[in-house]
Amino acid sequence: MSQFFALIPAAGSGSRMGNELPKQYLPLCDRPMIYHAIKTLSNNRSIAEVFIVLAPDDTHWSQYDWSEFSQKLTVLHCGGATRADSVLNGLTAAQQQGLINPQDWVLVHDAARPCLTSDQLDKLISELASDAVGGLLAVPVADTLKRSNGDNHVKQTESRDNLWQAQTPQMFRYELLTRALQNATNINVTDDASAIEALGLHPKLVPSDAYNFKVTYPQDLALAELIIQKRNHP
Ligand code: C5P
Repeated sequence: MSQFFALIPAAGSGSRMGNELPKQYLPLCDRPMIYHAIKTLSNNRSIAEVFIVLAPDDTHWSQYDWSEFSQKLTVLHCGGATRADSVLNGLTAAQQQGLINPQDWVLVHDAARPCLTSDQLDKLISELASDAVGGLLAVPVADTLKRSNGDNHVKQTESRDNLWQAQTPQMFRYELLTRALQNATNINVTDDASAIEALGLHPKLVPSDAYNFKVTYPQDLALAELIIQKRNHP
């Protein structure tokens, strides 16, 4: 039987937030942001273990109390220069420690998506558990899309037909994902699915919603805070 694992690459610096503290540690409802994703993933009964990939020189993680997750949390200090490197290094370390098998599923989730819900997670797992390739949570693009000419004037309007915004978790089997990331070293992969696509495969898009947005700019943090507060105190 294949098992399900979560892996959170958390070795980024989050420079777009304009903050000294890496984004995954920014305070969100009295916790570091990454806490919220860990909680949702570790509470899910299908998920056997949550791997956290930190930068080798991370000095922040140990300043918090993670004991409530100790049953399911494995911390790997092997983050790399890019997100893809961090994911690949984390997968390799987990396999070297004998924690994961080639056909096990890995759900890669960004620390910067703290508002993931257990319903979205359950839906992803149930839609993909018997899929040959795997896939990702995503939302159809709602806004009209403009391509600029490079100086903030519209060059043309792009069709949004069949366009989706990729989210995480992205769920693939260990063996396929490792092979895809090893193969993708010369292309710019900003998510796991694009490495799979580079092998000529077609990950499944599992409809999600806008709540699972990525905290990128300072105002996103305030929005995430409102959403989580409302969930905690309905
Ligand atoms: O910067 P961005 O929001 O695209 O990062 C997405 C995720 O990848 C974050 O959880 C970040 O910590 C992680 N990351 C990483 N190693 C890097 C760069 C980003 O683990 N070198």
